[in-house]
Amino acid sequence: MTFTHASRAALFNTNAAREVARGWVAKNTQPQAPDLSQIGGLVVSVYQCDIHGARIRGALEGLRVSLLLKSASFTRKLRVCPTDLDELLKTHAQEWVELDDSGLEAPSTVCSACEETLGVFPERGDAFIYVWRRSSPQREFYAVYCLGCSDRLIRDFQLKEQERYRAPA
Ligand SMILES: [Zn+2]
Ligand SMILES: [Zn+2]
Repeated sequence: MTFTHASRAALFNTNAAREVARGWVAKNTQPQAPDLSQIGGLVVSVYQCDIHGARIRGALEGLRVSLLLKSASFTRKLRVCPTDLDELLKTHAQEWVELDDSGLEAPSTVCSACEETLGVFPERGDAFIYVWRRSSPQREFYAVYCLGCSDRLIRDFQLKEQERYRAPA
């Protein structure tokens, strides 16, 4: 595949964003030992599911959602029950592309959610989603969002703004 100058730049930025997102995972997120405690003879998770708001029988699973814009970046780790995580992955299956170690092939030119065409040097959000499930290796997903859909992602997942990140120009 040949890249135009513009798409090379976008790919460079996207890979740089991926490194930042991976750094947050490495720094803040250990693959989890089960968060369990015994309550009334029942083994329940210590933390409540961040989606449905209650503790469950058994261990929670997790995901980290990170969004990197040119001007700001956002991330949050969520603890979720297996049922809600299944649902979440199902509803985002069209939007989130699973990545492997070979990296990103080419920058997408349309928003993963609304399919609006992104400009040549647009303000766009590169999103990286890391998923941890019981007895499975970590999985990584990617999506690119227009500004409107970036806002929606921040709201939907209540992402928190990070300091000190600036994407390369
Ligand atoms: Zn849940
Ligand atoms: Zn969009």
